[in-house]
Amino acid sequence: MEFDVPKFLSFHLSLLILVASTSIEASGSSSLSSSAAEIVSRFQQYLQINTAHPSPNYYEAADFLVSQAESISLESQTIEFVKGKPLVLLKWPGTRPDLPAILLYSHTDVVPSEIDKWKHDPFSAHIDQHGHLYARGSQDMKCVGMQYLEAIRRLKASGFQPLRSIYLAFSPDEEIGGHDGAGKFVESEFLKNLNIGIMLDEGLASPDENYRVFYGERSPWWLAIKATGAPGHGAKLYDNSATENLLKSLESIRSFRSSQFDMIKAGLKAEGDVCSVNMVYLKAGTPSPTGFVMNLQPSEAEAGFDIRVPPIADPESLERRIAEEWAPASRNMTFWFVEKAPVRDESGNPIITKTDSSNPWWGLLEDAIRKAGGKLKKPEIFPAATDSRYFRRLGLPAIGFSPMANTPILLHDHNEFLNRDVYLKGIEIYESIIKAYATYLEKGGNRESRDEL
Ligand SMILES: [Zn+2]
Repeated sequence: MEFDVPKFLSFHLSLLILVASTSIEASGSSSLSSSAAEIVSRFQQYLQINTAHPSPNYYEAADFLVSQAESISLESQTIEFVKGKPLVLLKWPGTRPDLPAILLYSHTDVVPSEIDKWKHDPFSAHIDQHGHLYARGSQDMKCVGMQYLEAIRRLKASGFQPLRSIYLAFSPDEEIGGHDGAGKFVESEFLKNLNIGIMLDEGLASPDENYRVFYGERSPWWLAIKATGAPGHGAKLYDNSATENLLKSLESIRSFRSSQFDMIKAGLKAEGDVCSVNMVYLKAGTPSPTGFVMNLQPSEAEAGFDIRVPPIADPESLERRIAEEWAPASRNMTFWFVEKAPVRDESGNPIITKTDSSNPWWGLLEDAIRKAGGKLKKPEIFPAATDSRYFRRLGLPAIGFSPMANTPILLHDHNEFLNRDVYLKGIEIYESIIKAYATYLEKGGNRESRDEL
């Protein structure tokens, strides 16, 4: 309850500031045109819906999105592949439904926050004197979902008519793996019937003026290794104790980790291009009422690792390394994967979206961003996982892009914020991209060759 007053005040304050510094106005005099204050206010409303795990308020978010869709005359449907986890699908029909469609994708859920570490309540969407809009989800990724809608609002106001149909999907559960959201969506008849040619999904903020863009991502391999050995007196030196065997593995894993990290430090490789390994748990010892038995070497020792494998890596050689060096049977060791995402597709190719002339969507994106006054960095491999992986595994081109330049990377961090002007600029960028994609007429816009085009 104590949030009510500050939230009310900040909302009005921010409106005053916005009215005074309106930076973009939708063109035309249509009823769809909006002032910057209205645009930012709609973003705030979405951010104020608490969709944090472990109990995201998905229905409230879905209702809000459907009402937004209605206000700009988009078709909408809400699909529950899993009860309580709605996916909102919106459509702007194109005049050429024979052409593959465009999917503008975002997720509605956000990660939890430690509220006492925040300057402003993470669901107040407070705007400070610099125009920074503080909210969980302001970067990851309610910004993008709303920017798609605002870009479409502006395009509609300008009288633009797409040739290709444009779909917007607002999906649940990305932050907990996406199995009940994107995972179910890609297996469904819904997606097949949409005939998607290209999907856009989230990227990351860029601290400098150049936008970041992602064409693939590393696959999580969550590895557990376990050593067993004869137990013994804590004072005795002997071979093949469980902890000694595990320590040998840790040394070997650590040196591999350093070799990968060194390449980043030397500037030879980007974060997404190396194989990262981090120990996430360590389990050993014989419990006693006061802690652990100190004069007994235990018979089992186990450790867990979060490994991220880049698409260009050779998964077979990594598996060999694990079996021969990190958990060799010769040292009484076993291993298993808690999660092991594929690195290659069914034909053995790396799961990436092409960023050369063979993929027309890439060139269109580059041009559209440039035309809207944005600059792009070299395309990268996303260091963590996003829902794009489900679509890329199908062979669909997917590009990760969140238009956030001059912005610190604060996803999942305390005090996540996005500057109001950066947000508004992003709408112009999407307007340009959607225009280019929706009017693209050449064939080759889909993974299948569509000779009839
Ligand atoms: Zn995200």
